[in-house]
Amino acid sequence: MQMDTIVTPGLVLKETRYKESDRILTILTPELGVISASAQSSLRLKNKLFSACGLFCYSEFVLLPGRNMYTIREAEVRNVFHGISSTIEGMSLAMYLAEMAAALSPTGEEAAKELRLLLNCLYMISEGKTDLHVVKAVFELRTMSECGFLPQLVCCKICEKYDGPAFYLDPQEGILLCEDCAKKAGKTCNLDTGALYALRHICLVEDKKIFAFKISVGSLAKLSAVAERYALTHLDKPLKSYDFLKSVLP
Ligand SMILES: [Zn+2]
Repeated sequence: MQMDTIVTPGLVLKETRYKESDRILTILTPELGVISASAQSSLRLKNKLFSACGLFCYSEFVLLPGRNMYTIREAEVRNVFHGISSTIEGMSLAMYLAEMAAALSPTGEEAAKELRLLLNCLYMISEGKTDLHVVKAVFELRTMSECGFLPQLVCCKICEKYDGPAFYLDPQEGILLCEDCAKKAGKTCNLDTGALYALRHICLVEDKKIFAFKISVGSLAKLSAVAERYALTHLDKPLKSYDFLKSVLP
């Protein structure tokens, strides 16, 4: 191994083919953030990079820094989420989450947190036991919270009321209004009790417990709409994977 190479784990967020058997990968790493790296000849079946450079592979990479991007010298698989590609809904959700992570391009400590969150969500998709709407809402809310857009969730911004049958989360400002204050402000409540409980849980609980909550079908519908709106409001541009995802997972 050369002295100037870097060894890092990383999750492949995107792969782009070029020439006949090369790929350019977008990889989320805990310390370098989101990087581009070329994997030469990695589409040849017998190439040593073949299996570790696929989409959603979590691998250990040996990288050589270059002027525009890294070159992958070696790669070894740590984890493959085989279940993701077994359904079109799971696959399109994974593409959407990966595109959002790449668009946010977290750095420093945020990159390591984002990587853990995304690995956790891909695992849930792959296992196929969790409602995909839950996985989507968890990722959207938690990723925004960790990338500098944590909403103020403790109580109503105006009167400090803590609970009630209906609340409004302002997707732009990230503030809560209780039913009365929302009405005075001309806003329609978008959360019920269950959705607000889940929202607080997802944004504030420790990593390991992030999926440890139950939610009714009705509350999940409200949570899903708010989570998506909140995430997309804070992104600079629309995600390419969004329309297709909505067509298979409305
Ligand atoms: Zn209030």
